[in-house]
Amino acid sequence: MVFMKKSLVIIKPDGIGKKIVGEIISRFENENLYISKLKMIHIDRELACMHYCDHKGKPYFERLINYITADSSVVMVLEGEDAVNKVRSIMGNTDPAKAISGTIRSDFGTDITINVVHGSDSTESAEREIKLFFKNYYQ
Ligand code: GDP
Ligand code: MG
Repeated sequence: MVFMKKSLVIIKPDGIGKKIVGEIISRFENENLYISKLKMIHIDRELACMHYCDHKGKPYFERLINYITADSSVVMVLEGEDAVNKVRSIMGNTDPAKAISGTIRSDFGTDITINVVHGSDSTESAEREIKLFFKNYYQ
């Protein structure tokens, strides 16, 4: 178990509002990813800015931070073989309009900002993000 690959996944506030938390978790579990950490938190601005620090200065940054801090999110660590890539393919393209049918973002996303889920984009990002949300995970 400890040698499995990890991804930090967030079900963003619209996923809670759309009542698809169970559906989203099932999609990941059905692809043989398992949950090693899970919590529901209201992400504050400081944490949101740290998580999305690479996007500072982008025209959509303010809308992104307002969205992710608007209400509670479900944050989890998913583990399994090739977890980062597997999560990304189950989520679909950042823009729901471009995402392949049957992916989470295609099926449930509202627009390119309000797109239901976050998943780490590399193993290095996963480690940084997991440390941000689950402080003692790697101890
Ligand atoms: P992801 O890794 O697929 O989530 O995409 P990114 O890391 O590029 O962007 C992070 C988040 O910022 C996305 O999930 C969207 O919520 C938002 N976002 C990214 N690119 C755009 C964009 O071009 N326009 C807008 N409005 N929002 C964006
Ligand atoms: Mg990203």
